[in-house]
Amino acid sequence: MPELPEVETVRSVLARDFVGKKIKTVTVTNGRAVRRHKAPKYFREALEGRTIKSVHRLGKYLIVGLDDGNKMVGHLGMSGQLLRAKGPKDPKPKHTHVVFTFTQGPELRFVDPRTFGELFVSQPLPEGQAPEISKFARLSIGGDGLATRVAVPELAHLGIDPLEDQIGWDRLAAIVRSRTTAMKAVITDQDIICGIGNIYADEILFEAGIRYDRVAESLSTIEIRRLHRAMTEILADAIKHRGSTLDDEQFVDPEGNPGEYQQYHRVYNREGLPCPQCRAPIQRVSVRQRSTFFCEKCQN
Ligand SMILES: [Zn+2]
Repeated sequence: MPELPEVETVRSVLARDFVGKKIKTVTVTNGRAVRRHKAPKYFREALEGRTIKSVHRLGKYLIVGLDDGNKMVGHLGMSGQLLRAKGPKDPKPKHTHVVFTFTQGPELRFVDPRTFGELFVSQPLPEGQAPEISKFARLSIGGDGLATRVAVPELAHLGIDPLEDQIGWDRLAAIVRSRTTAMKAVITDQDIICGIGNIYADEILFEAGIRYDRVAESLSTIEIRRLHRAMTEILADAIKHRGSTLDDEQFVDPEGNPGEYQQYHRVYNREGLPCPQCRAPIQRVSVRQRSTFFCEKCQN
């Protein structure tokens, strides 16, 4: 599943290639892709004729700002891809559910074999109602995240975004120490910290020297400071290498290029290979049908 670095990679290509473009037509061939709308025509009508002004990200969501102030929101789910057509005759990939054409330039296609992804146009709350912002996100001391949550009420529940929200280690400590569950569950809970999934949780916890099953409230100050640093460093590094593409080759950017960060994974998908720090074999355990990779010696 695409996580924060993959979504950020998609965002940067969309921002570069589609900001300033005017949407000519929107064709929905699988209504499940726009399932939040009563019918695909409501999605289509909100978008046709609009010009794209900005592309932002919060957690694993893309937020496309339109010239009428509305926002189109996208989530890639398990297998979603936003692909820029190479030319007008470029054949559509199988599982293309939504096609955007523009008054100038190539089409944009939403392709999603497993159909867990979605696109929708955010609906403003009734006059006088304010979105209920996540209590964790409200601890943010800066960044663009809070404004995004106010503008897109559907995303107000999202917890701290490690890059879009600014949060010092001391506030992260308050969040982590209020939880009695395992660390991996805490940092992959989108309502607590958003954007991190299975891959980056394992990489961050390895970098911080913390086992996946440590009870969150038991972390020391030093461990929380290491976790705080590891979150921003690992995610920034993964963005620099344009995300991770695993053996299923599901993640590609809008130009069809795979990411390269998988070459830098230190524990994820490396069962039995030597730990880069101590040479002990990397372990794999299965928790709720998902694999966790870690080093028994380096992570306490
Ligand atoms: Zn080790």
